[in-house]
Amino acid sequence: MTDADIHSAARALLSWYVEAGVDEAILADPVNRLVPAPKPVQRSAQRSDPAPAPRPAASAPQTPTHAPSAPPPRPAVPRAAQAELDRPADAARAAARGATSLESLKRVMEGFEGCGLKITATNTVFADGVTGADLMVIGEAPGADEDRQGKPFVGVSGQLLDRMLASIGLSRADSVYITNILPWRPPGNRQPTPAEIATCVPFVERHIELAAPKVLMFAGGTSAKTLMGRKEGITRLRGTWMDWPLPNSGGVIPALATYHPAYLLRTPGQKASAWKDLLALRRRLDEVAKAV
Ligand code: URA
Repeated sequence: MTDADIHSAARALLSWYVEAGVDEAILADPVNRLVPAPKPVQRSAQRSDPAPAPRPAASAPQTPTHAPSAPPPRPAVPRAAQAELDRPADAARAAARGATSLESLKRVMEGFEGCGLKITATNTVFADGVTGADLMVIGEAPGADEDRQGKPFVGVSGQLLDRMLASIGLSRADSVYITNILPWRPPGNRQPTPAEIATCVPFVERHIELAAPKVLMFAGGTSAKTLMGRKEGITRLRGTWMDWPLPNSGGVIPALATYHPAYLLRTPGQKASAWKDLLALRRRLDEVAKAV
């Protein structure tokens, strides 16, 4: 094989990995899997096995010659962590309810062990922008860039989101608060499962309550359908105002769904509809500001 063949095979393998969704090295240093593995250390009991004992007479009681080896002791799991594993959505609801500020909600989520997505994620992506902003934007889930930086919407779709917000005079630096339904990146950006979503919803619900925005914007169908409990697709849901019910006061927060920026990047023909949604959002924010 020539050097050129080796390089082209390596390039083909790398692009196969990328297509399969592999975009992170698991270890900091490469592992040479061609080096033979070290021989396993033999236990002394195996080295000097005694001669087999004479077989007992047929009538003798059948006592095992070797006591069955006891299973290794399981590490003790604290009771709260066990509940997170057994009934993750209930545990998430209880944990979220216990958070009385955005900071404590962030700490609670960082310590939560009931969602498998957390195992493969690098960071818990909590929020970005201005706490106390009138507008709260809720997307779907962090991607690779968000996972690395620990902030929502910082990759290419985040850049489009920033331009969309800027077109109506808003920015995460001074007038918008941004989060996602899921705080942990699904590996390879796969679709989150209904169970993963159900586990994370109590956190985002509490997040809305504590952030107390005046207006909500759902970026994409997953966010709108999950939070509003709707079945329709985003094409039907976008552009119509919905009411997000506040849990204790009986009040509501007006909520508008629009296309996800990642969808708009793939389908620029829908930008005109998204622009209408942004103008409606601007008008509502102006009304809300006047009403204060
Ligand atoms: N897409 C989302 O829905 N959220 C992010 O944070 C990034 C991409």
